[in-house]
Amino acid sequence: MSREKAIATPSKTKEYLTKYGFSFKKSLGQNFLIDVNILKNILKIAGVTKDIGVIEIGPGMGALTEQLAIAADRVVAFEIDQRLEPILQDTLADYDNISVIFQDVLKSDLYPVIQEHFKQGQTVKLVANLPYYVTTPIIMHLLMADLPLDSITVMIQKEVAERMAAQPNNKNYGSLSIAVQYYTEAVTSLNVPKTAFMPQPNVDSAVLHLTFRKEPPVYVKDESFFFDLVRASFSQRRKTLRNNLVHYFKDQYDKEMIEGKLKQAEISGDRRAETLSIEEFANLANILVQN
Ligand code: SAM
Repeated sequence: MSREKAIATPSKTKEYLTKYGFSFKKSLGQNFLIDVNILKNILKIAGVTKDIGVIEIGPGMGALTEQLAIAADRVVAFEIDQRLEPILQDTLADYDNISVIFQDVLKSDLYPVIQEHFKQGQTVKLVANLPYYVTTPIIMHLLMADLPLDSITVMIQKEVAERMAAQPNNKNYGSLSIAVQYYTEAVTSLNVPKTAFMPQPNVDSAVLHLTFRKEPPVYVKDESFFFDLVRASFSQRRKTLRNNLVHYFKDQYDKEMIEGKLKQAEISGDRRAETLSIEEFANLANILVQN
């Protein structure tokens, strides 16, 4: 099954670029991986084994897709750039367990795709080297879609990975950390140098591993209110929680009422949002939503 030489090398990548006259589109976040060891590490972090199904976003020339096809049962990849079709047909010709869907993943309904391509009850993981210009929208799209996915393992911009996995009292902790950690357990690992890509991106990269939770870690009465409250609390990071809340709820609650609700939640209004745990946000949201 495996070829003489992996796709993910500088020489193979250059060979296909020349053969097909392909030019990278920066606007599509096209930075292709040229280091097989990094790809193998991504697979290890994702826990890819021969019995599982994998969804990939953005196969590019197939560098990661090839490694996934070798290690997993089936791979279904979404690629927005139709120009890559002849290249992928060539690079992945030796593998019969890959389907590429030429579609913008943000406009795709993944649920029927999972039903159609994978066995019933099969563990399905998402593994990708994501286009950096849409990392957060893609991850949020995947988290909110209520998909039968086991985990998401993605190479993304290091700063974004750190924000998604950050814990309270850390400068990277914010509404994005809480949104991601409401649905998953988040861990960052493997810092990847720019030299592992062609062309080299302007930013550093890291691998983020998200394992879906069976249940959210906290009980919230109204999810959309909870997320609104979290965003409002972080709207001006340097301001106190009290000031951010008074400003956000100015049409609903006066200052005394906010103070009373904070007291009821046993949270000092002098604190800054970055010190609050997800449990404290949930408790505060459940108290505020009552009226
Ligand atoms: N997986 C390849 C690799 O590791 O070498 C390429 C990764 S490259 C960082 C990102 C890929 O995502 C590109 O092939 C790009 O065309 C594709 N892409 C960008 N936006 C997309 C979208 N909205 N939906 C699907 N694919 C997209």
